[in-house]
Amino acid sequence: MTITIHRGINQIGGCITEIASASGTKILIDLGHNLPEGENRDNDPLDKAENIDPILDSVDAVFYTHSHGDHVGFEAYVAKKGIPQYIGRLSKRLLLLQRGSILYRHSTPELQASKKAIENFITYEAAKPIKIKDITVTPYYVSHSAPDAYMFLIECDGHYVLHTGDFRDHGYRGKGLEPTIRKYIAPRNIDVLVTEGTMLGRDDGRMISEEQLCEQAVELMRKYKYVFFMCTTQDADRISSINHATDIVKGRRMLVDGYQYKVLQAFEDELGQGRFFRYQYNRKHYFRKDWNYVLDKDCKRGFTMLVRNNRNMKKALAEMMPLLDSRQCCLVYSQFKGYITNGHSAFQQDTYDFIHSYDWHFEYLHTSGHASRQTLETVCALVNPRLAIIPIHRDAQNDFRELNLPEHLKARVTTQSTIVKDVKIIIK
Ligand SMILES: [Zn+2]
Repeated sequence: MTITIHRGINQIGGCITEIASASGTKILIDLGHNLPEGENRDNDPLDKAENIDPILDSVDAVFYTHSHGDHVGFEAYVAKKGIPQYIGRLSKRLLLLQRGSILYRHSTPELQASKKAIENFITYEAAKPIKIKDITVTPYYVSHSAPDAYMFLIECDGHYVLHTGDFRDHGYRGKGLEPTIRKYIAPRNIDVLVTEGTMLGRDDGRMISEEQLCEQAVELMRKYKYVFFMCTTQDADRISSINHATDIVKGRRMLVDGYQYKVLQAFEDELGQGRFFRYQYNRKHYFRKDWNYVLDKDCKRGFTMLVRNNRNMKKALAEMMPLLDSRQCCLVYSQFKGYITNGHSAFQQDTYDFIHSYDWHFEYLHTSGHASRQTLETVCALVNPRLAIIPIHRDAQNDFRELNLPEHLKARVTTQSTIVKDVKIIIK
């Protein structure tokens, strides 16, 4: 078996992992774009076909862990080569909604090809193995800021690899992480663990759970009559926290735009069944449906509103804000702080301008979609891989060995090409 890390050993986002059997079967795990770096978001060398072609050469299948753009992004290229692509069912639906919303405003042949490719994605299910010739991939659900994320257990040439994808244990379904590993992963005697390490350099030990975030949102809603939340639309957990807080502070609705409404509908259909009441967004209201009523009644009694930086939202805010007392307005920024931090490599001027466009009180309320240092330590110890730990999705300057790991595991941390027993590891 050969494991190749094409990208991701020293950067967050854009990870590409290849697993190949001795007989030549080859699969890729994730194939997305570099994370946006401030104003240079298009500066991704793999955006060029000639750079991605060698990676796709004789690949039998591509498996996506979840729908984030740094994990899925070249679906049209891959489809053109006739390579099957696999993803979770809700992820597929979210990607179609997202691409569809751009197409609605601006149709291009590239976007049409992308939509067609996603329509042809094959969906997998948790705990159901998929065989690609002599490689078997079994997805297991993980909690992440994307709602339909998986880790993969891969069996190849008699070896077992666990690829975690992006994960955490402090989301609403994060408590399942340890039991899943104990029950399904650890008994297989994993040889190689490929794990994300996003928080190595970001975790300051003050990471809160979604439940705690919800409590803080309640406090803000008690203090301010109008609370505007800026968060990622496809983050089901975060919007659950906001919806639940809105529910607790009686008498207000959660105003959302048309795209957000459709996404919440998808969460409800796929996740909100049975006991997962968190994913039923009972306070949601599409504000354009009865805009005059919103301007009259909601603006009198108070509301929660999900905001995004786009033209339609700006237009709605321009009509609404003059009716409100700015001392009772609060903008809650609920995503990665780097985007609004001047001087950070991910700084986005337009996002910064948007959150400062009104004289509203500003609050930062966020928790990461990624595993804390402590969670990484727990997962490494539980999985206890026999040959290697390959940390990906992490900043180059942070050493995975700085984690509090047993010495035998520290010795297995691999960031350079090597051969361990009969497993070849290539780090590009
Ligand atoms: Zn992600």
